[in-house]
Amino acid sequence: MIAGAMLAQTADLAIVHARIHTVNPRQPQASAIAIAKGVIVAVGEDVSAHIGPATNVIDAHGAAVLPGLIDSHGHMEALGEALENLDLRGIASEQAIADKVRAEAAKRKPGEWIRGSAWDQNLFPTKEFPTADSISKAAPNNPVALERVDGHALWVNRRAMEIAGVTRATKDPDGGRVIRDAAGNPTGVFVDRARSLIGKSIPPPSNEDVERRLLRAANECARFGLTTVHDAGVPQQVIDAYQALIARNELPIHVYAMIQNQPDLIDAWLARGPETGEWLTVRAIKLIADGALGSRGAALIEPYTDDPPNRGLLILDRAFIRSVAERAIRRGFQVNTHAIGDRANHETLLAYADALRGPNGRRFRIEHAQVIAPNDFAMFGRYDIIASMQPTHATSDMPWAELRLGSERLRGAYAWQTFLKLGIHVPSGSDFPVESPNPLWGFYAAVTRQDKRGDPPGGWFPEQRMTREEALESWTIEGAYAAFEEKKKGSLEPGKTADLVMVSGDPMTVPADEIWKLRVTMTVAGGRVVYREP
Ligand SMILES: [Zn+2]
Repeated sequence: MIAGAMLAQTADLAIVHARIHTVNPRQPQASAIAIAKGVIVAVGEDVSAHIGPATNVIDAHGAAVLPGLIDSHGHMEALGEALENLDLRGIASEQAIADKVRAEAAKRKPGEWIRGSAWDQNLFPTKEFPTADSISKAAPNNPVALERVDGHALWVNRRAMEIAGVTRATKDPDGGRVIRDAAGNPTGVFVDRARSLIGKSIPPPSNEDVERRLLRAANECARFGLTTVHDAGVPQQVIDAYQALIARNELPIHVYAMIQNQPDLIDAWLARGPETGEWLTVRAIKLIADGALGSRGAALIEPYTDDPPNRGLLILDRAFIRSVAERAIRRGFQVNTHAIGDRANHETLLAYADALRGPNGRRFRIEHAQVIAPNDFAMFGRYDIIASMQPTHATSDMPWAELRLGSERLRGAYAWQTFLKLGIHVPSGSDFPVESPNPLWGFYAAVTRQDKRGDPPGGWFPEQRMTREEALESWTIEGAYAAFEEKKKGSLEPGKTADLVMVSGDPMTVPADEIWKLRVTMTVAGGRVVYREP
């Protein structure tokens, strides 16, 4: 070995006097870390051998440092769009939303679309779907389209229905439902695939719109300490926009993109093969097997407890999922299928099983894996299928999940610990913008199963809580595993990509009810400081 190779590499960036939780089982704790050219070169108690005159040395003054956090299921363009559109999250009446629409209409030209997101009728006194009346009065001259909090229902006004040509004669499409009054007239809410009856009339975003939204979303993620996001279902336009941002050196975080289920897009990517890169990797296909529980679109084996005989909607059948899975296996792609109801999970598992024929390292995923029939948990283990879950969905859904599912089925719902005890990989995410992208809120939900007021005392089905170590792993090394990236991300050890976050307090030791109040104070991705608290 030549002498030069023995010299310590001089770091560009070093952090000292930190409480570092490395997620490396061989060296769980450390106080200093050194980074050169985007890669970790040393982790330990003393990295001074790597510090030179040009090294940026940051004294953490005892602050906690974690590996960069990974959101294994988010929607970047939708987050960027939500940041630009009316935010209806948490609004507790239809009238209050209509007031917000009226104020927005006053600022817009007639005919301009008004978009909004994150309304939730479960917060209204009636808990009933809203109707076009309120927002037609508020904005008679502008088409209005407002996404439900889960993205599975669209609430529109009359102007929007006129532009889209939707009338009493419009039929429900396969896999979708037009909500109607007793006379059969559309009331203004379009569920699942019926959303496209309106959506086709909304002008598509330009490439500049998409780039602007992705950048806005990526900066928001960096602010929250996310250094990698698994973007759960993108068209080619979004991939092109990421590549444009990367070419301009503007994308602050890493993205693992899943391509949308469009025949041309899947054909093209299967023909050319996966693309892996430091800032963007494309090697997964996202399918959607059913809807969501909130809008009763999730496909259940038995009827909804609060809406019999409705069993929800299966959007894809087993044969289709199996055929995509078989093609993906031949071309080195992962398949990640959204399945919320127990029927959708069952059908997806059987389709995967037919294609995989055993555990073989393909790391196929079920996104959400939210309601699982008792006998189906073992199938995940038998075929090494990843359960990609979102802890804040549990704490958001807990006020009404039992109404939808009944107490018996609820035991197989949001069942993180049931999966973990079977040795199944459970990466965590938020499904932003359905939930906030803040991973510390997710971490809090994972370890407490309580809302931010601490309800219910002791946690909702507390036996399904994660330990703090499990929660940290699920936002780091498990997210990396779910993207075939555990050798370069997910823990702080020499040779890995320099992705890390500094936190205002230590999420591994503060009282549990303080976790959600913690703030990320610095985010480093690929060795670059991409966020620092002012
Ligand atoms: Zn999603």
